[in-house]
Amino acid sequence: MVANKQDSHRILIIGGGSAGITVAASLRRHSDGKKLDITIIDPAKRHYYQPAFTIVGGGCYKFDNTYRSMNSLIPKGAKLISEGASAIDPENNQVTLSNGDKLDYDYLVVCPGLILDWDGIPGLKETIGKNGVCTNYSPDYTEYTWECIQSLTSGSKAFFTQAPLPFKCPGAPQKIAYLAADHLKSKGILESCELHFATPGPGMFGVPYFAKLLGPVADKYGIQKDFHHKLIKIDGEAKKATFEVIDGDAKGEVKELDFDMIHVTPHQKTPDFLHGSPVCNDAGYVEVHKNSMQHVKYPNIFGLGDACDTPNSKTAAAVRKQSPTVVQNIKNLIDGKPIEETYLGYGSCPLTTAKGKVIMAEFIYGGKVTPTLPFLVPPNKQSWIGWMTKIIGLPMLYWYFMLKGYEKFLEPDLDWDSGEE
Ligand SMILES: Cc1cc2nc3c(=O)[nH]c(=O)nc-3n(C[C@H](O)[C@H](O)[C@H](O)COP(=O)(O)OP(=O)(O)OC[C@H]3O[C@@H](n4cnc5c(N)ncnc54)[C@H](O)[C@@H]3O)c2cc1C
Repeated sequence: MVANKQDSHRILIIGGGSAGITVAASLRRHSDGKKLDITIIDPAKRHYYQPAFTIVGGGCYKFDNTYRSMNSLIPKGAKLISEGASAIDPENNQVTLSNGDKLDYDYLVVCPGLILDWDGIPGLKETIGKNGVCTNYSPDYTEYTWECIQSLTSGSKAFFTQAPLPFKCPGAPQKIAYLAADHLKSKGILESCELHFATPGPGMFGVPYFAKLLGPVADKYGIQKDFHHKLIKIDGEAKKATFEVIDGDAKGEVKELDFDMIHVTPHQKTPDFLHGSPVCNDAGYVEVHKNSMQHVKYPNIFGLGDACDTPNSKTAAAVRKQSPTVVQNIKNLIDGKPIEETYLGYGSCPLTTAKGKVIMAEFIYGGKVTPTLPFLVPPNKQSWIGWMTKIIGLPMLYWYFMLKGYEKFLEPDLDWDSGEE
């Protein structure tokens, strides 16, 4: 990359997912006359709107509407290199690509997301996509989820499992359980079926306000809540799933259970090149300040999205609020101004409790509830407007606003009173 350091600033972005494209577009749009030489590195040919995977699996959305070609999303004036990053050398401001090329940068944005660890659950790799074993977490299998749900008959037994944290979209594993239950209800066979939501965690959701609302939703459908249950093995051909109880009275118990269908949340981790990288913690997550998104050790490096070690919920909604902070702080560094700590941990999870109903969970660090449209979509209600927002509003906002650098639309109400202490 050739650039004159005096008047042009080389910005490298690793990852062209929700975070990479949003930051690139926003930097272009809000460059304030600065010459920014922006390069995105990503080997993927397609960019997916992953939040729609849940509704594809639930039979409410077309898979073909979940993706665009990567090339079509690269903002005007930015470049795409269709290679993977294989190493970051923060001391020398250099990134190595999988083809061996090295790229220099003035500012680096690290956002390669999470990958699915198919080996995390023995047997999963061999059976995923057949034998009633499905997942909404990979575009290869979301449509199979809907096939599995449709194939359930009177007396069927279905499991919906959650992975150990961290994983993308903490609500997704149970959203599909509700959509499946709602489908069985509409067929009149829900009561004859046995449904389980199995999670290694101690409750329905990490934010107590929403956990309290979701328990009764599951109960109403008759979904059994198997807390502290970790899926440790799966045998697709025998249709058996093995769970270990990791806490509580039955701690240590191992249960082998039959299933007709099982929706699995695979274990997730950052891409391999981040493990052992000087910019990451021991678990392979990019170490950034949780409010400024600036690297804790290297000031010209920023991170956002799922690959960061910040304690927000890993959602595209979080990316939408992290991006303005990253963009402003890169500009502040260029102008010699102080770094701002403006990201407050916002995340959002439209919890699809039925076809046509959503509980719109929005919150910041500490679990404070911060709805964006509390009068239209009250956070304590299963809302039809919330559903329309999920299936029409949010995809439109994503493709036509967020990925175009207009990510500052609609602010959450930080002072909303949830009535809780
Ligand atoms: C089933 C499901 C449901 C979800 N539901 C919601 C929801 O309702 N609401 C919500 O807000 N969020 C939801 N999410 C989460 C949301 O999709 C992610 O949080 C968001 O996409 C994170 O953005 P990111 O840019 O960090 O990662 P991604 O969007 O995953 O992008 C990462 C990019 O980095 C690239 N990459 C990987 N390795 C390298 C490398 N070595 N070099 C260069 N590039 C690399 C990848 O090809 C990819 O393009 C859901 C996700 C799933 C899977």
